[in-house]
Amino acid sequence: MAFVAAVLAEIVTIGDELTRGETVDTNSAFLAGRLTELGVCSVGWLTSCRDVRADIADALVRAATRAKIVLVSGGLGPTEDDLTVDVAAELAGVEPVVDEPSRERMERRFARAHFKLTPNNIRQVRVPSGARVFDNRNGLAPGFEIALRGASVFFMPGIPREMSRLCDEQIIPRIGELLAGAPRVLRRIWRVFGVGESHVDDRLSGLLAAVDPTAPADSASLHFNVQFPDVLVKVIARDEDEARARARLDRLGTEIRARLGEAVYGEGDDGLPAVVGAALRARGATVALAESCTGGLIGHLLTEVPGSSEYFRLGMVLYANQEKVARLGVSEATLAQHGAVSRECVEEMARAVRDLAGATYGVAVSGIAGPSGGTPDKPVGTVHLAVASMSEVHAKVLAYPGTRSQVKQLAAHWALKLLLTEASKQS
Ligand code: AMP
Ligand code: MG
Repeated sequence: MAFVAAVLAEIVTIGDELTRGETVDTNSAFLAGRLTELGVCSVGWLTSCRDVRADIADALVRAATRAKIVLVSGGLGPTEDDLTVDVAAELAGVEPVVDEPSRERMERRFARAHFKLTPNNIRQVRVPSGARVFDNRNGLAPGFEIALRGASVFFMPGIPREMSRLCDEQIIPRIGELLAGAPRVLRRIWRVFGVGESHVDDRLSGLLAAVDPTAPADSASLHFNVQFPDVLVKVIARDEDEARARARLDRLGTEIRARLGEAVYGEGDDGLPAVVGAALRARGATVALAESCTGGLIGHLLTEVPGSSEYFRLGMVLYANQEKVARLGVSEATLAQHGAVSRECVEEMARAVRDLAGATYGVAVSGIAGPSGGTPDKPVGTVHLAVASMSEVHAKVLAYPGTRSQVKQLAAHWALKLLLTEASKQS
């Protein structure tokens, strides 16, 4: 019944600079992302090879034999080591020919820049005879499509700026056309914070079978992806019937939220800073920060979100104890009795910064980011957090012995999570 395999796609990137490790293969990641977003195909293989005729031919033939759609980047330049057009033509059993519109465009460009055309420039405006050509609006070498071993194979230049524009403006729409009517592969991501990956996995075990006991085993799959400090839970559903796939994702979402509770803070691409921002904006609330060990990181995260000026009032970084006293009136007695890394201290800071800014919420953080400065009762990774609303103060303590940067990241995100909890309460 419902299960249908996704259309298989592959990516081949060509270039000695890739296999030598000099250039990071960002084209593969970009192209894989675009194909995945299309929602009809699944990328089976990513292959990179040298600028060697036999290797290019081998990679292309393997990919075209396995997949329906193959995206290729690289080797379309003017120099002798740019072999892709020749290999593609040979595999298609045709000759390379000059693409006249691309040659004319190149001549106009060179004339405008007072550059002299060299004979090898002509090399990069060639395509295999009979290929479907895609203009390169950011550069010289055109893209093209050929049929090979039952696959549609798309060739693009290696330069990321040229490749990405060609892909988005011409190749992805063309693939959409080719695959019109193909069954849908739907994906949804739930964002989890505050629970480790193994616990998430444990709590979600048996999820798919529990929600859809009769569905074929492959009609949905569950994936975890750690993007510290978040864990992303991704479900892929495949179905000929898009509405049925959507309904299945909805049921899975309800169950995921039931099993993980408050730890699920959102869906899709928006991280905690954006989700907190939306919650603050929704209730017309504002926030002020008193940061110590996070050194301004919470303010940075909040202000990365466009439009944050609507709710972000004030961010103070109070590293030294005397500044906590002088600027926010933290009491000397609190510091003497409990120290700066204490619940008492962050509660005073949170209230004081809220009042100073006249904000709805005050958030404060003080901790030991390490690697030194820990003590037996306050080891590295001890962080106190507090959020003061109009009427109450909520505090939390963390004990996460990570690197300095991890402790800061985790503390900043926990502060945002506490703020989100407050800003989401029914008033
Ligand atoms: P090409 O089209 O092979 O002449 O590639 C031109 C330039 O694009 C190379 O020198 C690299 O700097 C860059 N490039 C090629 N392939 C990739 C890739 N897969 N990822 C990122 N950059 C690339
Ligand atoms: Mg190259």
